[in-house]
Amino acid sequence: MNDLPANSKPVTRFAPSPNGPLHLGHAYAAIMAHDRAARDSGRFLLRIEDIDGARSRADLADEFRADLTWLGLSFEEVPAQSTRIDSYREAANNLRAMGLLYPCRCTRAEVAAAATLHGPDGPIYPGTCLRNPPLGQSRGGPDPVWRLDVEQAAELCGPLTWFDENRGPQSARPAMLGDVVIWRRDAPASYHLAATLDDAEDGVSVVTRGADLFAATHIHRLLQVLLGLPEPRWHHHGLLAGPDGRKLAKRRDAPSLADRRRAGEDGRALADALRATRFDTGISLDEGLNLAP
Ligand code: GLU
Repeated sequence: MNDLPANSKPVTRFAPSPNGPLHLGHAYAAIMAHDRAARDSGRFLLRIEDIDGARSRADLADEFRADLTWLGLSFEEVPAQSTRIDSYREAANNLRAMGLLYPCRCTRAEVAAAATLHGPDGPIYPGTCLRNPPLGQSRGGPDPVWRLDVEQAAELCGPLTWFDENRGPQSARPAMLGDVVIWRRDAPASYHLAATLDDAEDGVSVVTRGADLFAATHIHRLLQVLLGLPEPRWHHHGLLAGPDGRKLAKRRDAPSLADRRRAGEDGRALADALRATRFDTGISLDEGLNLAP
């Protein structure tokens, strides 16, 4: 088990992507991370994950800061992902130099058609371009994405474990998501690479985030070992769901925190209502919690 060093003050973070306004689910995630740090006099960081230039909206970061303040959460902001591309590129080049990345030009539709396995995030890449590089690379067209050869990487690292404060000790199963993309043609670094590097760079010692990212942690643990990064702990918390039982989504479920803030609602009271609900396992409904504006 990965113990925090004695007397160490935890560092947690809230890492929203500015591609839509924050909703109740984000408020819950931010409160969980904030309170986990506050409980042991630690630090709570805000990191804007604006790596996806095509989908990121510059105006939203200010809204996010105002939302957190409205909820009564004080935070320290660390540099946004868009300022860190060079370090992502360097890390991707290191993985490539280790022979662990391979180029892939398959389209989403091709992956979906060829996949025989499905993971929590959709079809598992069947390794077409790994097994058949000439075909994959001779087609020309757009730049390839670069995928991690997970089997080879896992072999190199040997058995790995990680610790979730909510669910206990875990054996890493990095193959769960297949050969994930590490370097994209548009973004450019993948979420997996950027978040793993940033958490290390920002000194995050307890990665507090929603249970929907539980599977991603298996690959993040592998990346940490490959890149020589320290091992944090994780706390994956339950997710707020809408009345349809599905995870709250930015576009589907109005109103946003910003709407509620502008309507004059008491953000601290809302935060306390969310604190009174403990969703540590699975998805929970927000019905009956009287959180409607
Ligand atoms: N940026 C991610 C999101 O908005 C969060 C990633 C994380 O907490 O690791 O869903």
